Amino acid sequence: MKNNVRCSDYQAWFMDSLREASPSSRAAEFHAHPVTCDECRMASAELRASWETFANLPPLEPPRALQEKARGAVLALMAEERASARHATG
Ligand SMILES: [Zn+2]
Repeated sequence: MKNNVRCSDYQAWFMDSLREASPSSRAAEFHAHPVTCDECRMASAELRASWETFANLPPLEPPRALQEKARGAVLALMAEERASARHATG
């Protein structure tokens, strides 16, 4: 059997498969890859573990104070940029 799956392709496919968005046409090739590739076997185990951790987190709404702080930071940055632009043009 010819196996042309590259490690980067495999890992991209694996991420998609975690999201259940994997294209099925080459699934057999991809499934065969980590059998012969230690790197991808370990990488996929890590990806799955972190994916499951992420998936188990409750949906988090950013606290209001944090939103205000982020908004303030953006506004401050915009004001700063405007001020330095004015300075640059004289
Ligand atoms: Zn690999």
